[in-house]
Amino acid sequence: MIDFALTEEQQLLQRTAREFACAEIAPAAARLMKAREKGTAQEPWPFCADLFHKGWDLGFTRLLVPEAFGGVGARMIDAVILLEELGAADVAVAADLFALNMTVPLIIMAGGNLAQQKEFLPLICSRPTVLSGALSEPNVAGSELFTQDPNPKMGIKTFARRDGESYVLNGQKSAFVTNCGIADQYFILARTSLDRPLWESISVFFVPATAPGLQPGTRTRMAGWHMGHHAELIIDEVRVAAARRIGEEGHGAKIMGALPQMGIGLAATFVGLARAAYEYALDYAKKRMSMGVPIIQHQAVALKLADMYCDYHAARLAVWDAAIACDADPMAAATVKAPMSKTLSVDAAIRNAERALQILGAYGVTDEFPTSRWLNDAWIGYSCDFTRDMLRLGMTAFLPSN
Ligand SMILES: Cc1cc2nc3c(=O)[nH]c(=O)nc-3n(C[C@H](O)[C@H](O)[C@H](O)COP(=O)(O)OP(=O)(O)OC[C@H]3O[C@@H](n4cnc5c(N)ncnc54)[C@H](O)[C@@H]3O)c2cc1C
Repeated sequence: MIDFALTEEQQLLQRTAREFACAEIAPAAARLMKAREKGTAQEPWPFCADLFHKGWDLGFTRLLVPEAFGGVGARMIDAVILLEELGAADVAVAADLFALNMTVPLIIMAGGNLAQQKEFLPLICSRPTVLSGALSEPNVAGSELFTQDPNPKMGIKTFARRDGESYVLNGQKSAFVTNCGIADQYFILARTSLDRPLWESISVFFVPATAPGLQPGTRTRMAGWHMGHHAELIIDEVRVAAARRIGEEGHGAKIMGALPQMGIGLAATFVGLARAAYEYALDYAKKRMSMGVPIIQHQAVALKLADMYCDYHAARLAVWDAAIACDADPMAAATVKAPMSKTLSVDAAIRNAERALQILGAYGVTDEFPTSRWLNDAWIGYSCDFTRDMLRLGMTAFLPSN
């Protein structure tokens, strides 16, 4: 049986998230934009810290961690309902602070042993903890991050040298590492062998931000996502206890490959953006008069609005489908449904932001209205957590026959 009706708990979660997004995220984003216009601020974290703490109070970041380890024990379908609401207010806050912090602890669930789960998950859940995943590297590990190419020379170069009961890490991560510089803990991918294929030689390390030798760079400026904080990470002789290696040595790629939750969570935030653009344009079209009638009465405008509604609903269904599949079997969801949901939701967000911009006419391209910011925020979805092309190429090996 298929039933898209939300349970009472899910409706409450949705309402709570919507109220939080309106009361906390949207005003904070507006304050940052004003400060940027005046040239008094570029750094978003001072505008985000308080709302992150309030979101933590509401249990958002520990939503997916089992109750036994201090989490809420909810499912991915609950997470996407929540993240859509946050994405409607600001996709960068929703993606970087909530989707990431909600899903990255699952690395410990998927790869960690019981002792690590008992030690690290309550640590993350018991106080507001900003997490970061330092995976990609400039020039050598973007799209090829998890390449199946057997040539050991391919891919990431950050190296973890075993030294007694610890490892010593050296390397450099790309300028896009989310939350790098504001994080309390990092998940760092490093090679533990240089003569085996990448797939068999990556390990994951859980490293406190205070570890000597961990050096975040300055914040990377992007065309959008102004509420997000991304930076490169220099790793210089960083000593990490072997007990902080999550999973077996060389199993890092397998652990990461079985975690589609980040992609699905991101997809949900873009559904939120696509919906926000639709709702805003609909309201505007009912109020703005041209030729003596509200512009929604011009068929060219009305058709755009109908397309916007179709696009965001189709994307939402794909995200819900991927989330439900993920709750049943994450590995199976990772092959087709997760990348499909992100592709469709980013496409919907870009198309809806662009249509909203057109419906607002000249006002659509001014800073007074949100449409150009939405368009810039939406485009970024093509590049984060693998490009649109790489996602679809990854799907090709698993395409079902019907
Ligand atoms: C907002 C944002 C957040 C991010 N967050 C993080 C993070 O938290 N942690 C982290 O480690 N990284 C992060 N990244 C980095 C991101 O994962 C990489 O930028 C992304 O995977 C693309 O890599 P690249 O920039 O090196 O592109 P490239 O790999 O250089 O790709 C360039 C172009 O070539 C195409 N291409 C490359 N290889 C192939 C191929 N084999 N076949 C066909 N086409 C190909 C790509 O599709 C793309 O169009 C983030 C990036 C962004 C924009």
